[in-house]
Amino acid sequence: MKLAARAGRIVPSPTLRLMAVAKALIAQGVDVVDFASGEPDFDTPDPVKAEAEAAIRSGFTKYTASSGIDELKRAISDKLEAEQGLRYDPSQVLVSCGAKHTLYNLAEALLEAGDEVIIPTPFWVSYRDQVLLNDATPVLLETREAEGYAIDRAKLESCVTPRTKAIIVNSPCNPTGAIYDRAALEAIAEVALRHDLIVVSDEIYEKILYDGARHLSIAALGPEVAARTVVVNGVSKAYAMTGWRIGYGAGPKELITAMANIQSQSTSNPSSISQKAAVAALRSGDAFTRQMVGEFDRRRRLIVERLNKMPGISCRMPAGAFYAFPNVAGLFGRRSDRGAIATAADLADYFLKEARVAVVPGEPFGSAAHLRLSYATSVEAIRRGLDRMEAALDKLA
Ligand code: PMP
Ligand code: GLU
Repeated sequence: MKLAARAGRIVPSPTLRLMAVAKALIAQGVDVVDFASGEPDFDTPDPVKAEAEAAIRSGFTKYTASSGIDELKRAISDKLEAEQGLRYDPSQVLVSCGAKHTLYNLAEALLEAGDEVIIPTPFWVSYRDQVLLNDATPVLLETREAEGYAIDRAKLESCVTPRTKAIIVNSPCNPTGAIYDRAALEAIAEVALRHDLIVVSDEIYEKILYDGARHLSIAALGPEVAARTVVVNGVSKAYAMTGWRIGYGAGPKELITAMANIQSQSTSNPSSISQKAAVAALRSGDAFTRQMVGEFDRRRRLIVERLNKMPGISCRMPAGAFYAFPNVAGLFGRRSDRGAIATAADLADYFLKEARVAVVPGEPFGSAAHLRLSYATSVEAIRRGLDRMEAALDKLA
């Protein structure tokens, strides 16, 4: 069979694949500690579930407007105005089946062969493949761990060519947990304005912040920046609603309309029931999220402290999201009965087989020296997983 070339350009999502591996082993009764799953372990709040039940009972179970119900678009606009001072007409908001789908619609609406998209490394796995799927070229902008993964302005400038169409900004970042402050966002915005770039601002972890940090959307820097930015967000992380599949984009009308047209010809509307649930979530205030983040914070300190005690591993304290991203290059060259450890992928494989601990290797995030461990799991599981990793490391020659 001759498939389209684009199908051969991408790999299955490595994060979803590893989550599936961990969950399948657990389902078979294998005692695996899962640090791979990038989703809150909390249950969706009851009032959100109640709204979904009410939607089902009242027969709100049919197609909706393809781009989302007005009630949800209003809840999204109100949120963006209240929190970031951003004003969007409902025609500038598109509700999709998760933020990943929002990003996909955006890539389809914007990109074609020859276009380039700047992606700061390390990056969330799907950015690169979505660019490739749409025949465009990802241009990786390296950032350094020692500099807190800050974007170097001169390096950013050097990535821009006449074919550059967009830059992706992900703050807080999956996988590093780094956040961009106002000055960093201003520098990116200035380059975007000067070179006429679209800014894709993935803010899905905006509410998972520690040590009193506050989220600032790059679009909030001013009307010129807002006019070229698509704010991407959703309810998956802030309200523990990953399975409900509701994400959204807000931005320039022309671009949002093109994305909405693509959605109307591909998936139609996101689930009517989930949309009602998302309205309840967005209107519910921050109490649930605050409590969840308080718990993540406790786990964050525990996992980072323990990782830093392991010889050959060093780990920065993430400022946001729920991932530890330890540097494991100090272990490269070590050996076990199972073979040599030369890469992060080798080490992840070793931890899975030897310690029954699932982690995601750094390579698909654009970093060969790191592992990603989600700490959106219980303190007990974190302790058990780290004990086992320590024991496995002790066996290395
Ligand atoms: N962006 C980032 C950085 C993410 O980590 C995720 C979750 N995997 C998404 C977008 C997509 O989230 P969802 O599709 O569940 O809204
Ligand atoms: N946010 C998660 C992760 O990065 C979910 C999996 C995915 O959609 O990639 O692991």
